[in-house]
Amino acid sequence: MQAVLLGGVVIAIHRYSLAHSNRDPTTSRHVAVVGAGAAGLVTARELRREGHSVVVLERGSQIGGVWTYTSQVEPDPLSLDPTRPVVHSSVYKSLRTNIPRECMGFTDFPFAARPHDGSRDPRRHPGHSEVLAYLRDFAKEFDVEEMIRFETEVVRAEPAADEENRGKWRVESRSSDGAADEIYDAVVVCNGHYTEPRHAHIAGIDSWPGKQIHSHNYRVPDPFKDQIVIVIGSSASGVDISRDIAKVAKEVHVSSRSTSPDTYEMLPGYDNLWLHPVIETARIDGSVVFQNGKTVYADTIMHCTGYKYYLPFLDTKGEVTIDDNRVGPLYKHVFPPALSPGLSFIGLPWQITPFPMFELQSKWVAAVLSGRVSLPSQDEMMEDIKAFYNKLEASGIPRRYTHLMPDDSQFEYDNWLADQCDYPRIEKWREEMFYIGFKRIYAQSATYRDNWDDDHLIVEAYDDFVKFMSSYPELLPLLKT
Ligand code: FAD
Repeated sequence: MQAVLLGGVVIAIHRYSLAHSNRDPTTSRHVAVVGAGAAGLVTARELRREGHSVVVLERGSQIGGVWTYTSQVEPDPLSLDPTRPVVHSSVYKSLRTNIPRECMGFTDFPFAARPHDGSRDPRRHPGHSEVLAYLRDFAKEFDVEEMIRFETEVVRAEPAADEENRGKWRVESRSSDGAADEIYDAVVVCNGHYTEPRHAHIAGIDSWPGKQIHSHNYRVPDPFKDQIVIVIGSSASGVDISRDIAKVAKEVHVSSRSTSPDTYEMLPGYDNLWLHPVIETARIDGSVVFQNGKTVYADTIMHCTGYKYYLPFLDTKGEVTIDDNRVGPLYKHVFPPALSPGLSFIGLPWQITPFPMFELQSKWVAAVLSGRVSLPSQDEMMEDIKAFYNKLEASGIPRRYTHLMPDDSQFEYDNWLADQCDYPRIEKWREEMFYIGFKRIYAQSATYRDNWDDDHLIVEAYDDFVKFMSSYPELLPLLKT
């Protein structure tokens, strides 16, 4: 690490920026990246840094993926119709981040508050538009947009079949200019996994006469004014949306599968919001019976039941499948052994702090593609995957939780990736901030975004951010306020 004086402030230059500024990659590949959300943006940056030529294919008209809030929703409120026009974003108007901003950002581009810019949201858990603004800053800083083809949907990606292109990838895309059929050395899939809804099975639901909607199509509470609403699901979106709706609805009843069967309680701070266990049955007369024996006549059921991995454009001839929400087989959630390194996935793990993980996964992919870092043999990768699956099975963990990273497994994984690429491990303050923040969500779900007691970690984070400010001097005065 080196120290320089800039604007009167001593700045430590991170060893990474020096070590990698004059990199001489072994091989430059022509790489297609599918999607320009947070994962696609950082992947494009890392691939180019490593010396690859990159084309990002994005079906939307702007960067940001999930963070591009729109009031538009899909015509089918449950999103069951496979032919429906798809709206990508599942973000609702009131959404604020559930991860503190210091912890959430990319490791070398701090998601720092910009309190002097009136157009920005300086809160620690900012609204969705601040995240989009941050991603735009990132794209601008690293000239990512020049690599993106907007309004270009990948409709097919498959291993090239002809002899001349053996080992390469054929990518078919559609845009207003027509269809394109191109050959790439590699494809990196960054298409997100919060667009295709999952639905809980409820006995009797087909003859239940009320309205049903999935949270993917929820934007504002107004349509639920004076209604009786049942919200299925009590994870992040279920908690937020039930509270949002409770502001205007007559009654809101949350059905949770992680509470005991006799639960029936009014949630603190509300006089119209109840917690119940799972639904036992829905009936033709409009009633819904919970496992605790309570019956509610509801106008609407809101399904906050999560999302599925969905890769309709990918044809791997069976080498990669989605089985009960397990995308596999994948070595370390990224490379399918039989198709590596030509095919890779960024961003599959969940219950994590995503941006830093995307960054580390994409550094690894970029380094593997250039040949700077080697993968184990196909057989060794398969052995590793089998051992991982066996461990899940032995612990009674269902397949659908394959990419869930509970407790400290995400940081073990991040650090493993960092070690592969000779990049610094995840900062201790980030790890601690994530754990404390996660606990805060459960302990004070209504107030965790505005009340905290880890100021010491914020100080540590900003002390750390300063070392990146040699690249972003315009942010420096803001960090010091
Ligand atoms: P996305 O953002 O979904 O981007 C995927 C992109 O791929 C999109 O732009 C899409 O248009 C494009 N695409 C898809 N298919 C194709 C195709 N066939 N051809 C071309 N382009 C295609 N994370 C946090 O860190 N903090 C939070 O507080 C937080 N809150 C969240 C709240 C909600 C409601 C949701 C749904 C997610 C939240 N997340 C949060 C997780 C969030 O998904 C990640 O932070 C991250 O933004 C995901 O980025 P991504 O690039 O993987 O996917």
